[in-house]
Amino acid sequence: MGKPNDDLSWTPNPELMELWPDTSGNTINGLSETESRPPSPVFWRTDGSIAHTDVLHYFYNRDKDNERLSLARKLREEPVAMPLVDISNEKILKSADDWIRSAKQTALDLGADQVGICEYQPEWTFDDRPQPKGGWAIVLAFAHEYDNLKTAPHDDAYVEVMVQYARAAKTSKLLANWIRGQGWYADPKMGPNTEDVLMIPAAIAAGIGQLGKHGSLINKELGSNFRLSIVLTDLPVEADFPEDFGSEEFCQNCQICVNACPPDAISNSKQIVRGDEKWYVDFDKCVPYFVDNLVCGICLAVCPWSRPGIADNLVKKMARRRITS
Ligand code: SF4
Ligand code: SF4
Repeated sequence: MGKPNDDLSWTPNPELMELWPDTSGNTINGLSETESRPPSPVFWRTDGSIAHTDVLHYFYNRDKDNERLSLARKLREEPVAMPLVDISNEKILKSADDWIRSAKQTALDLGADQVGICEYQPEWTFDDRPQPKGGWAIVLAFAHEYDNLKTAPHDDAYVEVMVQYARAAKTSKLLANWIRGQGWYADPKMGPNTEDVLMIPAAIAAGIGQLGKHGSLINKELGSNFRLSIVLTDLPVEADFPEDFGSEEFCQNCQICVNACPPDAISNSKQIVRGDEKWYVDFDKCVPYFVDNLVCGICLAVCPWSRPGIADNLVKKMARRRITS
């Protein structure tokens, strides 16, 4: 039962749906499973090992002759190809506070817009990959140009996403090289298709944001208008804390992304996924739309928290509501 919705106004591209496997992406993701387990790879694997390989190839080959989009892809490929330096034999020793301060400042100086740290949890590793080394995740956030993102699913939004993933990849690679130069282990995780780890739970644990109804993060300054990368490291640091600034309650009473999603992939109620009750986006509805358009992110752009200058007011509003209720 892997075919996406066929009873709503948006109609999936028949050529694409010919390639759609019988296996539901929601089943692979563990939808309705009550037991906790590691995630299984569902889409960003180019080695032919996933059920949706033909769909992924369709995505990569779509518009491959479009020069502007090819250039945008190359932007991201360049930092991914940059070499990692050897770990210095001279290990610099500092207190955890000093390392936190210097690592965060270096990340910001190298181009990140926000930084948080958490202890890496083994359950964030995909079940076909070995556990990464390090123990700590330095999570980096990179803001979109909102005016570009809100054109989704236009090509301008695709170029914007590639520009920010390129920035995320470059900064995580440079930060990892800086840490390795201090004599400590560091491994950058640069975006969806270079990953063996889930980034969203790490970002929540690191205080970067809360999960929204649209299945993406909401940050208390950037809304959902950003991308992530991560550096895993054994640098002796300490964790930040997840922060509850009210977006969860806000989502309970908001349906903007639900109503804006063309394939109706966003649910108004939480789902059980691998033992956790959480907001969940229907893979079998979202991905055909996303692949057919090469980009989406409509839900990120329409989220009220994403509009420049709005998030701060919403944080204050939700704080007032908690005091008065
Ligand atoms: S990315 Fe697009 S298709 Fe997917 S949930 Fe968001 S709005 Fe819907
Ligand atoms: S649009 Fe509304 S419901 Fe959707 S994630 Fe944003 S705040 Fe939550």
